[in-house]
Amino acid sequence: MKTIIAGREVDTRHFIGNERISSPQTFPAHSAITEKELGTVARGTQTEVDMAVAAAKAAFPAWAALGAQGRLPYLERLAHLIESRVEDLAAVETMNNGSLLEASRLRVMKRGAHNIHFFAQMALEMGKCWDTEAAKNAVNQVSYDPAGVTALITPWNAPFMLSTWKVGPALAAGNTVVLKPAEWTPFTASLLADMALEAGLPAGVFNVVQGFGAEAGAALVAHKDVKRISFTGSVPTAKKIASSAAQNLTPVSFELGGKSPFIVFADCDLELALFNALDQYDNCGQVCLSGTRLLVEDSIYDQFLSEFKSRAANLIQGDPREAKTVVGPLVTRTHLDRVDGFVQRAKQAGATLEFGGQVSPTLGGLYYQPTLFSHVPDGAEILSSEVFGPVLTIQKFSSEAELLALANNTEYGLAAMLFTKDQAKATRISSQLVAGTVWQNCFYVRDLSAPFGGSKQSGIGREGGHWSFDFYCDIKNTMHRKGTFY
Ligand code: NAD
Repeated sequence: MKTIIAGREVDTRHFIGNERISSPQTFPAHSAITEKELGTVARGTQTEVDMAVAAAKAAFPAWAALGAQGRLPYLERLAHLIESRVEDLAAVETMNNGSLLEASRLRVMKRGAHNIHFFAQMALEMGKCWDTEAAKNAVNQVSYDPAGVTALITPWNAPFMLSTWKVGPALAAGNTVVLKPAEWTPFTASLLADMALEAGLPAGVFNVVQGFGAEAGAALVAHKDVKRISFTGSVPTAKKIASSAAQNLTPVSFELGGKSPFIVFADCDLELALFNALDQYDNCGQVCLSGTRLLVEDSIYDQFLSEFKSRAANLIQGDPREAKTVVGPLVTRTHLDRVDGFVQRAKQAGATLEFGGQVSPTLGGLYYQPTLFSHVPDGAEILSSEVFGPVLTIQKFSSEAELLALANNTEYGLAAMLFTKDQAKATRISSQLVAGTVWQNCFYVRDLSAPFGGSKQSGIGREGGHWSFDFYCDIKNTMHRKGTFY
């Protein structure tokens, strides 16, 4: 079962124990650009999940026993293969979910390779035992032991990058993996499986089960042989997974949605703030980290709004394969209807539509226009619910206290962006923001050694750097007596 996407061949079966496996049933996956079917994909059920978990369980002891140094060559080969196939990965993903081709080629897919390389290298350090404080002639020796089979569940907005962000540390730590990609974007996970095979990963170390969340995903997270669940997706799904994981007390890592504040103080570098504010429409707003609530100090509110409107009018929306495009389409018709529902309800609630609010009349399809609401009544849904589309709101504040009340007035706590030239103020405000990441005078800067995750409903736990290994490993303390034994 294969399909051709953007001139590249993609196997649409599962990948279990280094074999391609079909299912009796299939499901179609579509292109965000054309809305046409790109291929039919094997629809995993309990049967295929059981097979994949069994393969991963069988492969675990030997993979774990290799140690970080022994796993390194496999993972470095995988990272190199990803680098060598950046063009293929970018072309397939863009055709599928409509993300910008240039960004994908130049940054996103390369980050996928880096995710594998970085954690493979870091595992060398984590694998070492080290002595901690000596107490009463005894020494603590801390080791990071792999946990076993990990279930990795990913969303559709950046499927390849987010899967490698989990696969990298999970494999580097010595675990084996069953990856369940989102049903709207199943294809690049299959390319990753091709590369895992080519890199020589032993059978069962890396497996992919395709299928629906409520079917394959639910079976995977409920499996008693799964020792870790790392999930990126929405809050309602996380709640279902948490309840399933509770039955086996399986540890979970959740990276969920956001409704992040984008804070602009009057003393900011206005050019910088405007440039970054426009970036919140990146990936047509389908970015968990987007600062979708623009909070602007009242003394520059009018100027900021007018500048932002004139610049937003120049954003080029169109085919994501064209280099000049900065805003592409939404992922599916279902998602577009959801986004439009938020927009219509915001209008009904009395918010002022500054621009956008509809599908582009010239482009049609899934090209929802960048949208901005001002004068949004307190308590309106658009101020608190994640739209996950190109829809921002703008509000003004006149004091730090008012700003903090607005900024933290959501169930989410994923990120915050803050623009001011006053570092003392930035530090003061940052310390009071409830967010996993605060960007001061920047956006989207990522360092794999830093913790990443969300507070409140935006997630549970942190990944990145040693935090990834804290999650993917069973941390063991061996205390031994120094000197003479008796
Ligand atoms: P989703 O929750 O609908 O689906 C995510 C994944 O979970 C998919 O693979 C889906 O098949 C699977 N799934 C669905 N039901 C399941 C179940 N019962 N058991 C197990 N798996 C199940 O989310 P989505 O619409 O694909 O993604 C959008 C969401 O992801 C947004 O809320 C966004 O903010 C969030 N997101 C967060 C981050 C982050 O790093 N914090 C990054 C990207 C996206």
